[in-house]
Amino acid sequence: MKIDLKTITIRSAHDAFVKGEYTAVELAQAYLEEIAAKNGRINAYLEVFADVLEQAKAADALIKAGKGGLLTGIPIAVKDNILIKGRRAGAASKILEGYVAPYDATAITRLKKEGVVFVGRVNMDEFAMGGSNENSAYGPVRNPHDESRVSGGSSGGSAAAVAMFGALAALGSDTGGSVRQPASFCGVVGFKPTYGAISRYGLMAMGSSLDQIGTIAKNADDAQILFNAMAGHDEYDSTTLPESAFGGIKASDSPLSVASGKKCVGIPRHFMKQGIDTEVLANFEASVARYKKLGYEIVEIELPNIEYSLAVYYVIMPAEASSNLSRFDGVKYGALKEGNDLLADYLRTRTEGFGKEVRRRIMMGNYILSSGYYDAYYAKANLVRDLIKADFDEAFKKVDFILTPTSPVPAFKIGEKSSDPLQMYLADIFTVTANLVGVPAISIPSGFVEKEGKQLPLGIQLMAPCKADASLFHSAKDFLA
Ligand code: GLN
Repeated sequence: MKIDLKTITIRSAHDAFVKGEYTAVELAQAYLEEIAAKNGRINAYLEVFADVLEQAKAADALIKAGKGGLLTGIPIAVKDNILIKGRRAGAASKILEGYVAPYDATAITRLKKEGVVFVGRVNMDEFAMGGSNENSAYGPVRNPHDESRVSGGSSGGSAAAVAMFGALAALGSDTGGSVRQPASFCGVVGFKPTYGAISRYGLMAMGSSLDQIGTIAKNADDAQILFNAMAGHDEYDSTTLPESAFGGIKASDSPLSVASGKKCVGIPRHFMKQGIDTEVLANFEASVARYKKLGYEIVEIELPNIEYSLAVYYVIMPAEASSNLSRFDGVKYGALKEGNDLLADYLRTRTEGFGKEVRRRIMMGNYILSSGYYDAYYAKANLVRDLIKADFDEAFKKVDFILTPTSPVPAFKIGEKSSDPLQMYLADIFTVTANLVGVPAISIPSGFVEKEGKQLPLGIQLMAPCKADASLFHSAKDFLA
């Protein structure tokens, strides 16, 4: 049977395995062929694992024995900053050249239990810093819809792998939009859970108070299945939510919308006045109309402090990242560039090992945290973060969801913004707030815009209150039905 990688879903693949229409080995082979044909141009995979077919064979044995679950034999791509024991992990950085993970991330342990097939590790912006994948030490990821354009970032490899039919779904990480923005640029679903829903153990830390592992897939159901398998309390990450929270998070219906019997979508239009592509805005209004037609109530909301989100994010994130990245000194992990003494070792390793954007953020972060500036910047940013949180708490008393575009622009040209970091940061305007506030958010494909004869995907973003993750999948399914 010919497998149609464009329409296949986790459930349809599972059914086919159980019915014996094709095997996990055959499915893995189909993906490997697709990758062999496309990856040379797209550059999504940094490494395709040599044992993919062996993993699939083991999955087939489980299925045959009647022990297979929904995810058994499902081929998944993994971002290069998530550890799989015994395999290379490099965060697309030269400083981690040769580093082999000594343990599994908790998310990976849980997927291994399900019998998932790990296809390979995928490209990203170095240490997840960026929004275009141009900051990878291994070259940008090209957008499968238009190869002259970026895939988005920092999980560009994850989104492009799914969009080029090189994996059924993928894991990414999201600190300020890195799952949602590339998903929107590549026309797939990207989901960032409530902070603490998935363990960060084994995810290389960038901004610890913001980071979450997220899922990327062709549809909301696949993204949800993958999420459900990974979510849950973990003793190795004290910020994970207690088990008691997971009835609400994983259940297929949000307790919120079910209990209240209403589905009310709030739109902060006051925040959509500047710097948004007119086609993105038109697509957004059409998406709002679609939700209205589906029976959702649409109301205007005010989030008085949301305009400070980007400034707050670009203080907190580099501060936390500069501290987290201090561990990469050439001694503990990865590549060492030797100098004449220990200090010279550090300086050479970090100067040659880190790329330009990572060095920029380490410098910003160290400045922000230095004596005298800590209170002026870091402490102040955290105070404003609390105000933004309070705005969201207030809004969620009235509405079930908040809807915005995912990105103010569609995928841009490779090189178009890379020399202007501020322009690049501005494109994160709609995504960073969910990380600051900790709420779950999903990017849903909402149509296309034609540019230079190519159809470029657009996306909308839905945010929900903390722990209402399941309601996001529900409303994404409504929209995509
Ligand atoms: N684009 C944002 C940044 O550069 C988000 C990155 C992320 O979520 N990892 O910081």
